[in-house]
Amino acid sequence: MVGEFELIQHYFTSAACARTGGAVELGIGDDCALLAITASDHLAVSTDTLVETVHFPVNAPANLLAQRALAVSVSDLAAMGATPIAFTLALTLPQADPQWLKNFAQGLEQMAAQCQITLIGGDTTRGPLSITVTVLGQVPRQQALLRSGAKEDDCLCVSGNLGDAAAALAWVLNPEKLMTESTDFLLKRYWQPAPELALGRYLLGKATAAQDISDGLLADAAHIAKASSKQLCIDPQLLPLSKALLQSCSKLQAVQLALTGGDDYRLVFTLPADKLAALQLLFPDVTQIGYVTAGEGVKLINADLNSLSLAHVGYQHFERTE
Ligand code: ADP
Ligand code: MG
Repeated sequence: MVGEFELIQHYFTSAACARTGGAVELGIGDDCALLAITASDHLAVSTDTLVETVHFPVNAPANLLAQRALAVSVSDLAAMGATPIAFTLALTLPQADPQWLKNFAQGLEQMAAQCQITLIGGDTTRGPLSITVTVLGQVPRQQALLRSGAKEDDCLCVSGNLGDAAAALAWVLNPEKLMTESTDFLLKRYWQPAPELALGRYLLGKATAAQDISDGLLADAAHIAKASSKQLCIDPQLLPLSKALLQSCSKLQAVQLALTGGDDYRLVFTLPADKLAALQLLFPDVTQIGYVTAGEGVKLINADLNSLSLAHVGYQHFERTE
């Protein structure tokens, strides 16, 4: 069976209807598509779906679900350096429960205010619970942060701690699990990821490639490596790990979660080394985790590879089987 990305490539990217040109500046393959609508800006568009039992468990709190659904989509605008404009909401519900809807609407309101984005439409249907958010944003023409521009000797950076959301999964899936001092912090990172909009905008004209981390650092960095035809070297010892994460598991487990756990919605990006110091003055959480070289794929450096078990390097909805 083909994997998720082969499936998209085979049936959709190569389809005649997916050909770019005219007003379609950039089509399938990046965090957002880019449409040339005005003389100065591109319209950035992205859509994401969350499905009950796949992306979140049954009985997940509605207000948190709404916040996460909107944040996950807006994160793709941040990854392009785009400023949010509006979003649509396609909601499929098993039943119309007023209390659930009230909580959902409250969560949506909170994240929309945080991201300064306006709800402009959607669709409401009955069926198994799923939430689809399509976001629209604007970005100055020719400046959007793509996955394809990484240059040799650029430094490779992430925008903040990794692995927190993946560590929270144990409590998301089992709310009965004994809470520890760090649980609240980790759960917040899972349910209310903060799209890195200010950083994305700052990186316009500076970063050479960027994307958000939704499937895990190794998997997502591999997309930049492939699109840029370069090798990305990552030093696991440089990965920024929160105190809460280190309190919740061993150092080795924390590093593994940071490398392979998805859901953090941080940005991973490449930047000419002479721009790093100024960036870190404004965004102190930005951390260099490696660099770009000639070659392909993602390579771990300075790592005791025997101790890391990286069998699953990122979540795919349809795993490839030989
Ligand atoms: P992201 O993690 O940034 O949301 P995905 O990994 O889900 O992106 O998707 C990779 C690329 O493939 C994106 O450009 C997305 O728009 C595109 N894509 C995913 N599914 C489909 C589909 N069914 N038809 C067309 N394009 C798709
Ligand atoms: Mg993305």
